[in-house]
Amino acid sequence: MLIGIDDTDSPAGMCTTYLGAVLVRRLIREHMRVREARLVRLNPNVTFKTRGNAAVCLDAEGDPEKGFGLACEIVEELADFSCEKTNPGVVVAEQRLDPAFYQKAVTDFCEIEEAVAILDAAGARYRGWKNRRGLVGATAAVASVLPDRTYEVLAYRDPARWGTQREVDKESLFACEEATFPHTWDTVDFANRVVVCVPHTPDPVLFGIRGESPAWVMTARSVIDSEKPALEQIWVTNQGTDSHLLIGKCGELREGLSYCVRGMVDGRPVTGEGGHVMFAIRDGEATIRCMAYEPTKNFREIVRALVPGDDVVVAGSYKKGSINLEKFCLVAPARDTEQKAPVCTACGKRMTSDGRGKGYKCRKCGAHAKDPEVHELPRTLTAGWYEVPPTARRHLAKPLCRGSPEIPADR
Ligand code: ATP
Repeated sequence: MLIGIDDTDSPAGMCTTYLGAVLVRRLIREHMRVREARLVRLNPNVTFKTRGNAAVCLDAEGDPEKGFGLACEIVEELADFSCEKTNPGVVVAEQRLDPAFYQKAVTDFCEIEEAVAILDAAGARYRGWKNRRGLVGATAAVASVLPDRTYEVLAYRDPARWGTQREVDKESLFACEEATFPHTWDTVDFANRVVVCVPHTPDPVLFGIRGESPAWVMTARSVIDSEKPALEQIWVTNQGTDSHLLIGKCGELREGLSYCVRGMVDGRPVTGEGGHVMFAIRDGEATIRCMAYEPTKNFREIVRALVPGDDVVVAGSYKKGSINLEKFCLVAPARDTEQKAPVCTACGKRMTSDGRGKGYKCRKCGAHAKDPEVHELPRTLTAGWYEVPPTARRHLAKPLCRGSPEIPADR
Protein backbone atom coordinates (compact mmCIF):
# COMPACT_ATOMS: atom_id res chain seq x y z
CA MET A 1 0.00 0.00 0.00
CA LEU A 2 1.00 3.59 -0.54
CA ILE A 3 0.24 5.95 2.34
CA GLY A 4 0.19 9.66 1.49
CA ILE A 5 0.05 12.43 4.09
CA ASP A 6 0.12 16.21 3.79
CA ASP A 7 -0.66 19.51 5.46
CA THR A 8 -0.15 18.75 9.14
CA ASP A 9 2.06 21.59 10.23
CA SER A 10 1.81 25.31 10.95
CA PRO A 11 4.34 28.12 11.34
CA ALA A 12 4.14 27.39 15.10
CA GLY A 13 5.40 23.83 14.77
CA MET A 14 5.16 20.25 13.53
CA CYS A 15 6.39 18.96 10.16
CA THR A 16 4.70 16.41 7.90
CA THR A 17 8.00 14.55 7.46
CA TYR A 18 8.28 14.10 11.25
CA LEU A 19 4.80 12.68 11.37
CA GLY A 20 5.79 10.36 8.49
CA ALA A 21 8.94 9.24 10.33
CA VAL A 22 6.90 8.43 13.47
CA LEU A 23 4.41 6.50 11.32
CA VAL A 24 7.25 4.44 9.82
CA ARG A 25 8.12 3.26 13.36
CA ARG A 26 4.47 2.49 14.19
CA LEU A 27 4.00 0.46 11.00
CA ILE A 28 7.14 -1.50 11.77
CA ARG A 29 5.92 -2.10 15.33
CA GLU A 30 2.80 -3.62 13.76
CA HIS A 31 5.05 -5.93 11.67
CA MET A 32 4.47 -4.04 8.43
CA ARG A 33 7.53 -3.70 6.24
CA VAL A 34 8.22 -0.15 5.01
CA ARG A 35 9.90 -0.39 1.62
CA GLU A 36 10.38 3.31 1.00
CA ALA A 37 9.82 6.64 2.71
CA ARG A 38 9.36 9.34 0.10
CA LEU A 39 9.37 13.11 0.51
CA VAL A 40 8.10 15.15 -2.43
CA ARG A 41 8.17 18.89 -2.80
CA LEU A 42 5.29 20.32 -4.83
CA ASN A 43 4.79 23.63 -6.67
CA PRO A 44 6.87 26.05 -4.59
CA ASN A 45 4.49 28.92 -5.47
CA VAL A 46 1.29 27.64 -3.86
CA THR A 47 0.13 30.18 -1.32
CA PHE A 48 -1.29 27.61 1.12
CA LYS A 49 2.13 26.19 1.97
CA THR A 50 3.61 26.57 5.43
CA ARG A 51 7.27 26.32 4.46
CA GLY A 52 8.61 24.10 1.72
CA ASN A 53 5.41 22.54 0.31
CA ALA A 54 6.37 18.99 1.25
CA ALA A 55 4.19 15.88 1.24
CA VAL A 56 5.15 12.31 2.14
CA CYS A 57 4.40 8.82 0.87
CA LEU A 58 5.25 5.56 2.63
CA ASP A 59 5.38 2.38 0.55
CA ALA A 60 4.49 -0.37 3.01
CA GLU A 61 3.42 -4.01 3.04
CA GLY A 62 0.47 -4.92 5.21
CA ASP A 63 -3.24 -4.55 5.76
CA PRO A 64 -4.38 -1.27 4.08
CA GLU A 65 -7.25 -0.85 6.54
CA LYS A 66 -4.81 -1.07 9.43
CA GLY A 67 -2.34 1.28 7.68
CA PHE A 68 -5.11 3.80 7.04
CA GLY A 69 -6.20 3.63 10.69
CA LEU A 70 -2.65 4.21 11.95
CA ALA A 71 -2.07 7.12 9.55
CA CYS A 72 -5.35 8.84 10.56
CA GLU A 73 -4.57 8.24 14.23
CA ILE A 74 -1.16 9.90 13.97
CA VAL A 75 -2.61 12.91 12.13
CA GLU A 76 -5.19 13.36 14.88
CA GLU A 77 -2.47 13.04 17.49
CA LEU A 78 0.24 15.27 15.99
CA ALA A 79 -1.18 17.66 13.37
CA ASP A 80 -1.48 21.30 14.42
CA PHE A 81 -5.25 21.68 13.97
CA SER A 82 -5.23 25.05 15.72
CA CYS A 83 -3.83 26.76 12.62
CA GLU A 84 -6.41 27.90 10.09
CA LYS A 85 -4.06 26.96 7.24
CA THR A 86 -3.58 23.36 8.47
CA ASN A 87 -5.95 21.11 6.52
CA PRO A 88 -4.60 17.55 6.71
CA GLY A 89 -5.14 14.80 4.17
CA VAL A 90 -4.43 11.06 4.36
CA VAL A 91 -4.60 8.68 1.39
CA VAL A 92 -4.05 4.92 1.27
CA ALA A 93 -3.97 3.39 -2.22
CA GLU A 94 -3.25 -0.18 -3.16
CA GLN A 95 -1.65 0.86 -6.44
CA ARG A 96 0.20 3.92 -7.72
CA LEU A 97 -2.19 6.67 -8.89
CA ASP A 98 -1.96 8.51 -12.23
CA PRO A 99 1.50 10.19 -12.28
CA ALA A 100 0.01 13.07 -14.30
CA PHE A 101 -1.53 14.34 -11.05
CA TYR A 102 1.89 14.45 -9.42
CA GLN A 103 3.33 16.26 -12.47
CA LYS A 104 0.58 18.83 -12.23
CA ALA A 105 1.01 19.29 -8.47
CA VAL A 106 4.75 19.90 -8.83
CA THR A 107 4.52 22.26 -11.81
CA ASP A 108 1.04 23.80 -11.61
CA PHE A 109 -2.05 24.22 -9.37
CA CYS A 110 -4.57 21.48 -8.53
CA GLU A 111 -8.09 21.55 -7.11
CA ILE A 112 -9.16 19.44 -4.13
CA GLU A 113 -11.97 17.96 -6.30
CA GLU A 114 -9.42 16.73 -8.87
CA ALA A 115 -7.64 14.76 -6.14
CA VAL A 116 -10.93 13.36 -4.82
CA ALA A 117 -11.98 12.24 -8.33
CA ILE A 118 -8.71 10.34 -8.77
CA LEU A 119 -9.03 8.73 -5.35
CA ASP A 120 -12.65 7.68 -5.98
CA ALA A 121 -11.78 6.25 -9.40
CA ALA A 122 -8.93 4.20 -7.88
CA GLY A 123 -11.04 3.00 -4.95
CA ALA A 124 -8.48 4.47 -2.54
CA ARG A 125 -9.14 5.05 1.14
CA TYR A 126 -8.84 8.71 2.06
CA ARG A 127 -9.73 11.24 4.68
CA GLY A 128 -9.46 15.02 4.64
CA TRP A 129 -9.75 17.23 7.68
CA LYS A 130 -11.20 20.77 7.74
CA ASN A 131 -11.20 22.07 4.13
CA ARG A 132 -9.38 18.84 3.01
CA ARG A 133 -6.69 20.67 1.00
CA GLY A 134 -4.07 18.23 2.29
CA LEU A 135 -5.64 15.63 -0.02
CA VAL A 136 -3.93 17.40 -2.95
CA GLY A 137 -0.44 16.85 -1.58
CA ALA A 138 -1.22 13.39 -0.15
CA THR A 139 -2.60 12.25 -3.55
CA ALA A 140 0.35 13.79 -5.41
CA ALA A 141 2.83 12.02 -3.12
CA VAL A 142 1.13 8.65 -3.76
CA ALA A 143 1.04 9.38 -7.52
CA SER A 144 4.67 10.50 -7.68
CA VAL A 145 7.21 8.92 -10.01
CA LEU A 146 10.79 10.01 -9.56
CA PRO A 147 12.93 9.29 -12.64
CA ASP A 148 15.59 11.45 -10.97
CA ARG A 149 15.82 11.09 -7.20
CA THR A 150 17.97 12.35 -4.38
CA TYR A 151 18.12 11.47 -0.69
CA GLU A 152 17.88 13.37 2.56
CA VAL A 153 18.56 12.13 6.05
CA LEU A 154 16.46 14.18 8.44
CA ALA A 155 17.30 14.16 12.14
CA TYR A 156 14.40 15.12 14.44
CA ARG A 157 14.62 16.62 17.90
CA ASP A 158 13.37 15.23 21.16
CA PRO A 159 9.88 16.78 21.69
CA ALA A 160 11.09 18.20 25.03
CA ARG A 161 13.49 20.43 23.08
CA TRP A 162 11.09 21.74 20.41
CA GLY A 163 11.16 25.52 20.23
CA THR A 164 14.53 25.82 22.00
CA GLN A 165 17.91 26.72 20.45
CA ARG A 166 19.29 23.84 18.36
CA GLU A 167 22.70 22.54 19.40
CA VAL A 168 24.60 21.62 16.26
CA ASP A 169 28.32 22.24 16.01
CA LYS A 170 28.87 24.63 13.12
CA GLU A 171 32.43 23.55 12.36
CA SER A 172 31.36 19.90 12.11
CA LEU A 173 28.85 20.94 9.41
CA PHE A 174 31.58 22.66 7.39
CA ALA A 175 33.79 19.58 7.86
CA CYS A 176 30.92 17.36 6.78
CA GLU A 177 30.38 19.26 3.51
CA GLU A 178 34.12 19.38 2.86
CA ALA A 179 34.26 15.59 3.19
CA THR A 180 31.33 14.72 0.94
CA PHE A 181 30.54 17.56 -1.52
CA PRO A 182 29.55 17.20 -4.42
CA HIS A 183 27.91 13.90 -3.39
CA THR A 184 26.05 15.94 -0.78
CA TRP A 185 25.12 19.61 -1.15
CA ASP A 186 23.52 22.56 0.64
CA THR A 187 24.70 21.53 4.11
CA VAL A 188 26.51 24.86 4.39
CA ASP A 189 27.22 27.84 2.15
CA PHE A 190 31.01 28.14 2.02
CA ALA A 191 31.15 31.51 0.25
CA ASN A 192 28.76 33.17 2.70
CA ARG A 193 29.92 31.15 5.78
CA VAL A 194 26.30 30.26 6.54
CA VAL A 195 24.80 26.98 7.81
CA VAL A 196 21.99 25.92 5.49
CA CYS A 197 20.90 22.51 6.80
CA VAL A 198 19.66 23.58 10.26
CA PRO A 199 16.24 25.31 10.30
CA HIS A 200 15.41 28.30 12.46
CA THR A 201 11.69 27.54 12.76
CA PRO A 202 10.16 25.89 15.87
CA ASP A 203 9.53 22.55 14.07
CA PRO A 204 10.94 19.13 15.06
CA VAL A 205 13.75 19.07 12.44
CA LEU A 206 17.28 19.23 13.88
CA PHE A 207 19.11 19.11 10.54
CA GLY A 208 18.83 17.55 7.08
CA ILE A 209 21.63 16.35 4.84
CA ARG A 210 20.91 16.08 1.12
CA GLY A 211 22.84 13.92 -1.28
CA GLU A 212 23.07 11.44 -4.12
CA SER A 213 22.59 8.20 -2.16
CA PRO A 214 21.71 6.89 1.29
CA ALA A 215 25.39 5.97 1.72
CA TRP A 216 26.61 9.52 0.98
CA VAL A 217 24.09 11.25 3.24
CA MET A 218 24.90 8.85 6.07
CA THR A 219 28.66 9.32 5.60
CA ALA A 220 28.13 13.07 5.84
CA ARG A 221 25.78 12.68 8.79
CA SER A 222 28.37 10.68 10.73
CA VAL A 223 30.65 13.76 10.84
CA ILE A 224 28.04 15.98 12.55
CA ASP A 225 28.30 16.84 16.22
CA SER A 226 24.94 17.77 17.76
CA GLU A 227 22.37 17.28 20.50
CA LYS A 228 21.08 13.70 20.41
CA PRO A 229 18.29 13.36 17.84
CA ALA A 230 15.15 11.49 18.88
CA LEU A 231 14.65 10.03 15.42
CA GLU A 232 16.41 9.86 12.06
CA GLN A 233 14.88 9.00 8.73
CA ILE A 234 16.35 8.68 5.25
CA TRP A 235 13.91 10.00 2.67
CA VAL A 236 13.86 9.41 -1.09
CA THR A 237 13.07 12.81 -2.60
CA ASN A 238 12.52 14.91 -5.70
CA GLN A 239 14.59 17.70 -4.11
CA GLY A 240 17.40 19.06 -6.27
CA THR A 241 15.92 17.65 -9.49
CA ASP A 242 14.35 20.73 -11.18
CA SER A 243 11.04 18.81 -11.41
CA HIS A 244 9.18 22.12 -11.12
CA LEU A 245 10.70 23.62 -14.30
CA LEU A 246 8.82 23.69 -17.61
CA ILE A 247 10.18 24.89 -20.94
CA GLY A 248 8.63 28.33 -21.43
CA LYS A 249 8.60 31.06 -24.04
CA CYS A 250 8.71 34.83 -23.51
CA GLY A 251 5.18 36.20 -23.59
CA GLU A 252 3.55 32.84 -22.88
CA LEU A 253 4.28 32.30 -19.17
CA ARG A 254 1.64 31.63 -16.53
CA GLU A 255 1.66 33.18 -13.07
CA GLY A 256 2.96 30.84 -10.34
CA LEU A 257 4.60 28.29 -12.63
CA SER A 258 8.36 27.80 -12.99
CA TYR A 259 10.26 27.85 -16.25
CA CYS A 260 13.44 27.66 -18.29
CA VAL A 261 13.20 30.43 -20.90
CA ARG A 262 15.62 31.44 -23.62
CA GLY A 263 16.03 35.05 -24.70
CA MET A 264 18.39 37.89 -25.48
CA VAL A 265 19.44 40.27 -22.71
CA ASP A 266 17.67 43.55 -23.43
CA GLY A 267 19.53 46.45 -21.81
CA ARG A 268 22.05 46.46 -19.00
CA PRO A 269 21.09 44.96 -15.59
CA VAL A 270 19.98 47.58 -13.09
CA THR A 271 20.41 47.47 -9.30
CA GLY A 272 17.30 48.58 -7.43
CA GLU A 273 16.57 49.73 -3.91
CA GLY A 274 17.33 47.01 -1.39
CA GLY A 275 20.01 45.57 -3.65
CA HIS A 276 17.97 43.44 -6.04
CA VAL A 277 19.27 43.25 -9.60
CA MET A 278 16.94 43.18 -12.58
CA PHE A 279 17.25 42.87 -16.32
CA ALA A 280 14.96 41.96 -19.18
CA ILE A 281 15.21 39.26 -21.81
CA ARG A 282 13.60 39.56 -25.19
CA ASP A 283 12.32 37.06 -27.73
CA GLY A 284 10.91 38.87 -30.75
CA GLU A 285 8.41 41.43 -29.46
CA ALA A 286 7.96 39.81 -26.04
CA THR A 287 10.08 40.63 -23.00
CA ILE A 288 10.21 39.35 -19.41
CA ARG A 289 11.81 40.85 -16.35
CA CYS A 290 14.33 38.68 -14.49
CA MET A 291 15.10 39.33 -10.83
CA ALA A 292 17.96 38.40 -8.53
CA TYR A 293 16.89 39.44 -5.03
CA GLU A 294 19.14 40.46 -2.14
CA PRO A 295 19.16 36.98 -0.50
CA THR A 296 20.88 35.62 -3.62
CA LYS A 297 23.99 37.48 -2.37
CA ASN A 298 27.06 37.10 -4.61
CA PHE A 299 24.97 35.68 -7.48
CA ARG A 300 23.88 39.30 -8.11
CA GLU A 301 27.47 40.22 -9.06
CA ILE A 302 27.35 37.60 -11.80
CA VAL A 303 23.98 38.86 -13.02
CA ARG A 304 25.34 42.41 -13.18
CA ALA A 305 28.00 41.21 -15.62
CA LEU A 306 25.42 40.37 -18.31
CA VAL A 307 25.36 42.73 -21.29
CA PRO A 308 22.79 43.57 -23.95
CA GLY A 309 22.69 40.95 -26.67
CA ASP A 310 23.78 38.03 -24.46
CA ASP A 311 21.96 34.86 -25.49
CA VAL A 312 20.75 33.37 -22.19
CA VAL A 313 18.50 30.74 -20.64
CA VAL A 314 16.95 31.80 -17.34
CA ALA A 315 15.38 29.39 -14.85
CA GLY A 316 13.00 30.22 -12.00
CA SER A 317 9.42 30.88 -10.94
CA TYR A 318 7.30 33.39 -12.82
CA LYS A 319 5.63 35.68 -10.32
CA LYS A 320 4.06 39.10 -10.86
CA GLY A 321 5.61 39.51 -14.29
CA SER A 322 9.15 38.45 -13.27
CA ILE A 323 11.24 35.33 -13.37
CA ASN A 324 12.83 35.00 -9.93
CA LEU A 325 16.19 33.60 -10.94
CA GLU A 326 17.36 30.24 -9.57
CA LYS A 327 20.08 29.97 -12.21
CA PHE A 328 20.89 31.08 -15.72
CA CYS A 329 23.03 29.96 -18.63
CA LEU A 330 25.05 32.34 -20.75
CA VAL A 331 24.71 30.41 -24.03
CA ALA A 332 26.53 32.85 -26.28
CA PRO A 333 28.18 35.97 -24.88
CA ALA A 334 27.67 39.16 -26.91
CA ARG A 335 30.49 41.61 -27.70
CA ASP A 336 30.44 44.35 -25.11
CA THR A 337 31.28 47.74 -26.50
CA GLU A 338 31.55 51.33 -25.41
CA GLN A 339 31.15 54.35 -27.70
CA LYS A 340 33.20 57.51 -27.44
CA ALA A 341 33.37 60.72 -29.43
CA PRO A 342 36.09 60.30 -32.13
CA VAL A 343 39.42 62.16 -32.24
CA CYS A 344 39.54 64.93 -34.88
CA THR A 345 41.67 63.72 -37.82
CA ALA A 346 42.65 67.31 -38.65
CA CYS A 347 43.88 68.58 -35.27
CA GLY A 348 44.06 65.52 -32.99
CA LYS A 349 41.65 66.87 -30.40
CA ARG A 350 38.72 64.74 -29.09
CA MET A 351 35.47 65.90 -30.65
CA THR A 352 32.20 66.47 -28.77
CA SER A 353 28.65 65.58 -29.61
CA ASP A 354 26.95 67.91 -32.02
CA GLY A 355 23.53 67.09 -30.62
CA ARG A 356 21.37 63.98 -30.65
CA GLY A 357 21.72 62.14 -33.99
CA LYS A 358 23.89 64.91 -35.43
CA GLY A 359 27.30 63.28 -35.11
CA TYR A 360 30.39 64.95 -33.63
CA LYS A 361 32.09 68.31 -34.00
CA CYS A 362 35.64 69.49 -33.29
CA ARG A 363 35.39 72.54 -31.05
CA LYS A 364 38.91 73.61 -32.14
CA CYS A 365 38.84 73.44 -35.94
CA GLY A 366 35.13 72.94 -36.63
CA ALA A 367 35.62 69.57 -38.44
CA HIS A 368 32.66 67.19 -38.42
CA ALA A 369 32.44 63.36 -38.04
CA LYS A 370 29.45 61.07 -38.33
CA ASP A 371 30.49 57.97 -36.41
CA PRO A 372 31.73 57.46 -32.83
CA GLU A 373 34.80 55.46 -31.85
CA VAL A 374 33.74 51.99 -30.74
CA HIS A 375 35.83 50.20 -28.10
CA GLU A 376 35.44 46.54 -27.28
CA LEU A 377 35.26 45.93 -23.52
CA PRO A 378 36.61 42.75 -21.95
CA ARG A 379 33.91 40.31 -20.69
CA THR A 380 34.18 38.89 -17.20
CA LEU A 381 31.54 36.20 -17.81
CA THR A 382 32.23 33.17 -19.91
CA ALA A 383 29.61 30.87 -21.44
CA GLY A 384 28.06 28.43 -18.97
CA TRP A 385 25.60 28.05 -16.10
CA TYR A 386 25.54 30.19 -12.95
CA GLU A 387 23.40 29.54 -9.86
CA VAL A 388 22.27 31.15 -6.61
CA PRO A 389 24.33 30.18 -3.53
CA PRO A 390 23.12 27.32 -1.27
CA THR A 391 21.65 29.77 1.23
CA ALA A 392 19.18 31.00 -1.41
CA ARG A 393 18.44 27.64 -3.07
CA ARG A 394 14.88 26.36 -3.30
CA HIS A 395 14.20 22.75 -2.39
CA LEU A 396 13.42 21.62 -5.94
CA ALA A 397 16.21 23.54 -7.69
CA LYS A 398 18.92 21.25 -9.02
CA PRO A 399 22.37 22.35 -7.87
CA LEU A 400 24.82 22.62 -10.76
CA CYS A 401 27.03 19.98 -9.10
CA ARG A 402 24.27 17.52 -10.16
CA GLY A 403 24.11 18.75 -13.76
CA SER A 404 22.31 21.47 -15.66
CA PRO A 405 19.05 21.71 -17.60
CA GLU A 406 18.99 21.16 -21.36
CA ILE A 407 19.22 24.39 -23.32
CA PRO A 408 15.83 25.05 -24.95
CA ALA A 409 16.05 25.28 -28.77
CA ASP A 410 17.16 28.55 -30.31
CA ARG A 411 14.49 31.25 -30.30
P1 ATP B 1 4.21 20.46 5.65
O1 ATP B 1 5.47 20.19 6.38
O2 ATP B 1 2.98 20.31 6.48
O3 ATP B 1 4.08 19.60 4.45
P2 ATP B 1 4.42 22.66 3.82
O4 ATP B 1 5.18 23.91 3.76
O5 ATP B 1 4.89 21.58 3.00
O6 ATP B 1 4.26 22.04 5.26
P3 ATP B 1 1.64 22.36 3.69
O7 ATP B 1 1.26 22.61 5.11
O8 ATP B 1 1.77 20.98 3.23
O9 ATP B 1 2.97 23.13 3.42
O10 ATP B 1 0.65 23.18 2.78
C1 ATP B 1 0.58 23.03 1.40
C2 ATP B 1 -0.87 22.82 1.00
O11 ATP B 1 -0.99 23.09 -0.38
C3 ATP B 1 -1.33 21.40 1.21
O12 ATP B 1 -2.67 21.42 1.60
C4 ATP B 1 -1.23 20.77 -0.18
O13 ATP B 1 -2.18 19.74 -0.37
C5 ATP B 1 -1.53 21.96 -1.04
N1 ATP B 1 -0.85 21.89 -2.34
C6 ATP B 1 0.38 21.47 -2.61
N2 ATP B 1 0.67 21.58 -3.91
C7 ATP B 1 -0.42 22.08 -4.48
C8 ATP B 1 -0.76 22.43 -5.83
N3 ATP B 1 0.11 22.26 -6.82
N4 ATP B 1 -2.00 22.92 -6.08
C9 ATP B 1 -2.87 23.09 -5.07
N5 ATP B 1 -2.63 22.79 -3.79
C10 ATP B 1 -1.41 22.30 -3.49
